[in-house]
Amino acid sequence: MSRLTSVLTARLFEFYTRWVWPVHRWGVKNKLARRCRRCALSQRASPLDEQGLCRFCVAFQPPPPGQDQSRALSALLAAHEGRGKGRYDALLLFSGGKDSVYMARRIQTEHPGLRLLALTIDNTFMSPVARANVLRLVAKLDLDHITFRPARSFLKKLYRYGLTHLGDRDCYNTVDFSDGEFIIDSARLVAAEKGIPLLLCGYSFYQVQDGLGLTAFESPPEKERADRTHVAEMALADIYSEAERGLWWRGSRWPADRVARLVFPLYAWNKVENEILQQVADWGLLSPRENSPLLTNHQLIPLFGVVDVHRLGYSGYEKEFCRMIREGKASFKRWRAVFEFLEFSARTGFFIKPIVLNALRELDLTPADVGIRFSAGSGS
Ligand SMILES: [Zn+2]
Repeated sequence: MSRLTSVLTARLFEFYTRWVWPVHRWGVKNKLARRCRRCALSQRASPLDEQGLCRFCVAFQPPPPGQDQSRALSALLAAHEGRGKGRYDALLLFSGGKDSVYMARRIQTEHPGLRLLALTIDNTFMSPVARANVLRLVAKLDLDHITFRPARSFLKKLYRYGLTHLGDRDCYNTVDFSDGEFIIDSARLVAAEKGIPLLLCGYSFYQVQDGLGLTAFESPPEKERADRTHVAEMALADIYSEAERGLWWRGSRWPADRVARLVFPLYAWNKVENEILQQVADWGLLSPRENSPLLTNHQLIPLFGVVDVHRLGYSGYEKEFCRMIREGKASFKRWRAVFEFLEFSARTGFFIKPIVLNALRELDLTPADVGIRFSAGSGS
């Protein structure tokens, strides 16, 4: 997709879900799954009770006020200022999305003595919008920055394998999750090679807790010293040759002092999504328009969403966002529109079909390979 097409598609998606869909949905409402009236979760993900609530909302207890971990984080960061043996104290994963931008700016402000190197992993399916954003933002933030872009054939293997071995799982928790794991593994390697003692990853509270299963802002050291053999329950040996597996992390091959401490600052800060959006806008770094979630970062995200809707009836992304909505950390109206629109366009092909067909072509897959059949009348 050209940069212009990509920008226009993202803008159109943003415009449509915000302004047109709230009207459009009334005409097609009987074709859509019902959604929980509190968190917007699809009835296909959980049955709804007579009050229209999903089982998660029925069982919901507001989380007890967690102990504030931002002071512990701050102490850890302060202890690393000037600590690296080489040029840098911390390697900061930088995708150009709101979370990594917020993390970079806040750490720069609170820990000016921490020598940062920003690292972008370009999975070769990064949208041109995201790529341009990264360069613009590292310039604005005045950060030292490097990009690692592995061969496309390497990542293609991961996506193709994941998409065709989903079993009963969704794309978010398999394919997209393994992409994230590859990004962190690449950063672990860069940190080890460069002797950078701290690795900072901008995963949200929910990604850390639900995705990685951690209950602290730091990954356990024994996990960092271990070798990866699986990703999202898929054996790497089934996907890659022995040589190729060397691009994944093998902690046991590095001396302990070369294994970085992996830290998730946003877990400790635990900010509301809108506060982060507002703050990065106030800093003049990222406007809300540049945050269309399904389109800007990764060109395969719409494909993942559509595959999930066809196989499961809802997209795997929904659960995380619905949890944020339930806990008052994300907007009900905004995300219901996005997920309803995705459901509708996934079935009919409306708006999304060319994007999905293009993504499948890039992966040498057909719609049938991944269980997609756009409904009659959409011209498929
Ligand atoms: Zn609910």
